[in-house]
Amino acid sequence: MAISGQCLCGALHYEVANPPAMTGVCHCKNCQRQAGSAFSTLAGVATADLAFTKGEPKLYLDGDTDSGSTVQRFFCGNCGSPIYSAIDSMPDMVFLKTGTLDDTSDFKPSFHAWCDSKQPWVALEEGVPTMAKGG
Ligand SMILES: [Zn+2]
Ligand SMILES: [Zn+2]
Repeated sequence: MAISGQCLCGALHYEVANPPAMTGVCHCKNCQRQAGSAFSTLAGVATADLAFTKGEPKLYLDGDTDSGSTVQRFFCGNCGSPIYSAIDSMPDMVFLKTGTLDDTSDFKPSFHAWCDSKQPWVALEEGVPTMAKGG
């Protein structure tokens, strides 16, 4: 069964051919800013598995990151929903923002990254690995 998702306004629809290889939460300041929230929830899928069935996302090149590497942040140019991000050093994987998935019932983070900038009120589930910085 294909995994599917869309942005808030529906201008973008996507499908993912295979289940995610990894899932995680990113607490970096830039994810907080882009999401307008406390963190981003991410699912790493193969780049070749992601296909847009409607619309094309816009790209923001985020060069001012804690990791020092430029993050490609793809989003809807109409409603602004963040859809996925990618980094040059991992060309075979993209990181879906899982809040845009049609069905989020399977999502469970397997790690938390950039916990140094985690917002103080966010409580982490016991037993889920945390990293002070990026992976
Ligand atoms: Zn949209
Ligand atoms: Zn982040």
